Amino acid sequence: MALHQVLILGSGAAGLTAAIYTARAGLKPTIVHGVQRGGQLTITTEVENYPGFKDGIMGPALMEEMEAQARRFGTGFIEGTVTAVDLSGHPFKVTIDDEHTEESEALIVATGASAKLIGLPSEKVFMGFGVSACATCDGFFFKEQDIAVVGGGDTAMEEATYLTRFARSVTVIHRRDEFRASKIMLARAQANPKIRWIMNAAVVEVKGEGESLGKKVTGIVVEDVNTNERRTVDVSGLFVAIGHQPNSQPFQGVLDMDETGYITTHDGTKTNLEGVFAAGDVQDKTYRQAVTAAGSGCMAAIDAERWLEARHHAQATVQAAQAAPR
Ligand code: NAP
Repeated sequence: MALHQVLILGSGAAGLTAAIYTARAGLKPTIVHGVQRGGQLTITTEVENYPGFKDGIMGPALMEEMEAQARRFGTGFIEGTVTAVDLSGHPFKVTIDDEHTEESEALIVATGASAKLIGLPSEKVFMGFGVSACATCDGFFFKEQDIAVVGGGDTAMEEATYLTRFARSVTVIHRRDEFRASKIMLARAQANPKIRWIMNAAVVEVKGEGESLGKKVTGIVVEDVNTNERRTVDVSGLFVAIGHQPNSQPFQGVLDMDETGYITTHDGTKTNLEGVFAAGDVQDKTYRQAVTAAGSGCMAAIDAERWLEARHHAQATVQAAQAAPR
């Protein structure tokens, strides 16, 4: 068991930025990272909207740079999945892989979110090669092409509408004939002449051609949920917009969350527990961008640093009072 000043859970843009800041503040942070080291950006291709890279940068390369920067200032890394936490007293206890426990004075939760996927093997094969879960990241690559969006919520409406800036046509495929999307976002999408609709249908296969880096999507097979009739829709891209799942499971019942599991923060990155801060997509269902995650990682680092300083000062004051002659 080790005692850290700051333990950061998650190694995406939020976690690594928090590490860079806390490391430079001399707090010797340690990051706990799971199997997807680097977070969601490691499954995207080119990132063109992260400031500082005028020609764009590949998502995995961006995360390697961030990790190298965090290491340069002495960040420690522990591989494993957080399986349990005990935040009932200080120091906080974090169990990793049910095997060992780390203790920390302050905790920064930056465990991110995972885009929900349909779960098709072919969806996995073409992920990053025509299949995407992020229109803001990848829409630009589909100029004047026919593409599809799956989903019937606000994310699907927002992504479909956004994608019409680039695409020739966007076909929304939804498994029901009623939408979960808010009226206003649905109406905006319905008024867009570039958007077509296939209702009561499920995407059952992504079709494509080519090998390794030359792979590309050529169409999707959709199945009518009432008749089971299948047909192929010719598209070069499929955007899966069926929601995100914040990776907050270990904190359920411990940290305040909204009904969908996003950790609630106030006054910057503070959670309901003193000394526990949350940054990045695990607490943000609105923006979900690399740059906003990095920004909130910076905020969490500064909040943690100030909290630790105040705590150490209070402890020193108590010790001095106890040591003073009566
Ligand atoms: P959501 O509201 O949960 O909608 C998910 C949609 O995907 C639903 O239509 C659902 O179908 C469909 N779906 C789920 N699993 C599927 C599967 N396996 N195969 C096919 N379709 C599937 O998620 P969201 O759209 O990401 O929105 C999440 C929250 O963020 C909402 O509160 C939303 O209002 C908010 N949001 C707000 C904005 C904004 O205000 N600008 C933008 C985006 C999101 P069913 O309807 O049949 O269940």
